[in-house]
Amino acid sequence: MKIGVLALQGAFIEHENMLTDIGTVCTEVRQVSDLQGLDGIVLPGGESTVQGQLLQKSGLLAPLWDLIAGGLPTLATCAGLILLAQKIKDSPVTHLGTLPVTIKRNAYGRQLSSFVTEEPVKGIGNFSMVFIRAPYIEHADMDVEILAKVDGKIVAVKYGNQIGLSFHPELSGNPKIHKWFLSLCEKRLDVYPLHHT
Ligand code: GLN
Repeated sequence: MKIGVLALQGAFIEHENMLTDIGTVCTEVRQVSDLQGLDGIVLPGGESTVQGQLLQKSGLLAPLWDLIAGGLPTLATCAGLILLAQKIKDSPVTHLGTLPVTIKRNAYGRQLSSFVTEEPVKGIGNFSMVFIRAPYIEHADMDVEILAKVDGKIVAVKYGNQIGLSFHPELSGNPKIHKWFLSLCEKRLDVYPLHHT
């Protein structure tokens, strides 16, 4: 298995470290040729406006859209979740737009702009969630599965092959979410063993 980590900007090294620790081969995605033969992709946190611009400039936006819309397992955290969102509140901008949710950027007030809290994630159990100038999901379409809420706000969802998280699981020291993501990548490999060709 080969997992791509979008490495245009932001916290990609932390995802690579966690994936490597649990025995996965990862590759940094910076240009279109890096998308070849991936079994899954991670969209890390960072600054979504910058990441969106770099996706355009690098020519990655359209081929990445094709892959994600075509079922490539995708783990998106924080700014990565913003890249996936179909709508960004109070903004005309969207990036990949493959996840039918409305996202609110920098949704936690000043004092709370960064915080850690432990809450249950469906199918995973209690998880220490690290929020850094995080968005939350203000609205999710009916067919989006809600995996976790904090103070009544949606912070984790699954929609087919796409997992979107407001928080940073790569910073929690707990690899359970990454392992679950890898199990989705493996399952897909069973169903489409020839997708590398
Ligand atoms: N505030 C950032 C944004 O809006 C996201 C923060 C993060 O990824 N930790 O893009």
